[in-house]
Amino acid sequence: MIVCDCRPTTAPDCTTYLFKKQPAIVMFGKINAPYQCAVNRCMINHRLLDHYQIDTSKDLGIKDICPRPYDTVLIDSMGSCFACECTSWLPVSIGNLHRQDLDTILQSPVRRKMQQSVSDGTYRYCNNRQCTYLLANRVYNWHGEHALKEIRLATDNSCNLSCPSCRTKKIFIKSGKMLRMRHTLSDRVVQYLEHHRSPIKVHIGSDGDPFASLIYRRFMRISQHLPHLSYSIQTNGLLCKQMYPRVRSMFEKLRTLNVSIDGASQHTYESLRRGGSWQKIMDNLRFIKELKQVHEFEFKLHMVVQKSNWHEMLKMCELGDSVDADQVVLNRIEDWQTYNNFNEQKVPENNEVQRMLEQVDSHHLSQFWAKTNAT
Ligand code: SF4
Ligand code: SF4
Repeated sequence: MIVCDCRPTTAPDCTTYLFKKQPAIVMFGKINAPYQCAVNRCMINHRLLDHYQIDTSKDLGIKDICPRPYDTVLIDSMGSCFACECTSWLPVSIGNLHRQDLDTILQSPVRRKMQQSVSDGTYRYCNNRQCTYLLANRVYNWHGEHALKEIRLATDNSCNLSCPSCRTKKIFIKSGKMLRMRHTLSDRVVQYLEHHRSPIKVHIGSDGDPFASLIYRRFMRISQHLPHLSYSIQTNGLLCKQMYPRVRSMFEKLRTLNVSIDGASQHTYESLRRGGSWQKIMDNLRFIKELKQVHEFEFKLHMVVQKSNWHEMLKMCELGDSVDADQVVLNRIEDWQTYNNFNEQKVPENNEVQRMLEQVDSHHLSQFWAKTNAT
């Protein structure tokens, strides 16, 4: 028997929801494969929901409507699109850009279903153990605008570094079918943006480095003429100075530059940012400080806090001050399955850490998980 959670009912004899692949009596529950509902054509693949252990029968009872399923779309390297800012927060694909255009995906029944799941207050598909807004009990309310405001490109994981928290070896796509397929995704996004008539931001670099990646660099080149477009960038910062002459026009439209460095001393930095050089990052941070005066973007320093660097959180805030950062964002390490024993990498829970968090809390630039959770 196939079971389905498309419908909020526990009626044991529900025969309304039949599936294309294998017609069956359907009950409220879970499915493990992407069966398509013959009634509302809503195809929800439960593989990722199961992977993140998301309880889709929950009802969080939240009154505010999260704007993300309405204003944001994330595109991953295989072309799958998600109605949230992170695939692990709302891990339901709403369509694939290799098979459909973005307009069609934005009108898909699955996207509507994701919107409905936040507007009815259940948040049933959301990962309430990882979503920052849900953890902070601080969901912003959607104001009813229907225009898409942000596209998040996670279409290339190429990077000049191989940080142990992120990958076990260096990844860099420079030729072949994979490169062409990823360029195709960029082209489809640009096609969509060409007829988009309201302001829209493209965020680049949650998965790889925008200044190292050939795919992202080309995207910046072919999109920079678009009138309604702005950018936000997530980078390890090492190639900013070197690449600036080539991507200067992108900087003219840059709203936020996020630089993730993870260590505020040479030893910590170079062990956590494998392949990075402390001297080079400091040189780039000073360059970014000057650039900020010219292009007036918001500059955020990021730190993935873990066992080997928590003691540098305050030092990171001071470093942020010295390079004129607008914010220092401190997030706890997440499990990207690169460690044999992830628990050994976590921030310890002891009095020393607590004292450090209190000091960090009083720093004017800090934005960190404990502060967020307390809000
Ligand atoms: S509540 Fe979190 S997981 Fe759910 S849609 Fe909003 S941002 Fe995404
Ligand atoms: S710099 Fe960022 S994308 Fe590159 S390996 Fe490190 S964590 Fe991953």
